[in-house]
Amino acid sequence: MTIFDSHAHFPPETVSEHDAQIERARNAGLAGILAVGGNNELDTGATSMASKFPDFVFLSLGYERDAAMEIGTSDGALEKSISDLREQINSLRSQGVFLRAIGEIGLDFSRNPSESDKESQIAFFAAQLELADELELPCTIHSRDADAETLETIERYGSQQMRKKGRLGVIHCFTRDKNFADAAVELGLHIGISGIYTFNNASDLRGTVGTLPLERLLVETDCPYLTPAPMRGKPNEPAMVVHTATRMAHDMQTTPEKIAKITTDNAIKLFALPINRHV
Ligand SMILES: [Zn+2]
Repeated sequence: MTIFDSHAHFPPETVSEHDAQIERARNAGLAGILAVGGNNELDTGATSMASKFPDFVFLSLGYERDAAMEIGTSDGALEKSISDLREQINSLRSQGVFLRAIGEIGLDFSRNPSESDKESQIAFFAAQLELADELELPCTIHSRDADAETLETIERYGSQQMRKKGRLGVIHCFTRDKNFADAAVELGLHIGISGIYTFNNASDLRGTVGTLPLERLLVETDCPYLTPAPMRGKPNEPAMVVHTATRMAHDMQTTPEKIAKITTDNAIKLFALPINRHV
């Protein structure tokens, strides 16, 4: 099996395990991992793993919604943050570490943020969609309880050139309904399927995913959270992405190898990864 974990975190809490996780991921048949940042700690973990395993761990950096709310938009804080990110990307490039995506970025209104916090989230999301257009990179997008605002912001600020290339980005850890999924696919986005898909109470989600075009699906762990069944109770890690693909294959009456291959091909194209897919 060749499979790609399209969304993994390497936070400081699990740092002693990271090298062993890469070993287990290779043994499980992974072709690679997208290491995703979002705040200082996650960016640091993702960057160090991408620097250490350049043929296997690929890098995504950005400001997620909590970072956006913490920094805020007053006194040029947003503009400074974006210019800091641009500088960080340039400096990494000069060291031979190339960014493959902007993210995770996006909106989360599930904990009832104030109106000004919502505005900060949207402003950071919009500015990073524009940065992704400038840098010709796809985005990895979080969206929770903000369906309409997510779609509106992408429609307005998402990259037209990347959309045309089929490389606009992915709604990662998809948990929403079919209307949202269809609208996202229509906008040109991919849909990332996490371990939530395997949960007992996820039958609605499984039903929705079954209606989506296979060429738009990715699989991901979003580790260290959301451990898929049957590994519940253990910390999640990239090797466990296999369980999500296996459950999808069962529901779609195909083989895990086929789901793994399709989603890997999709990820290689979306993130323009230098991976030999027949390893
Ligand atoms: Zn994440």
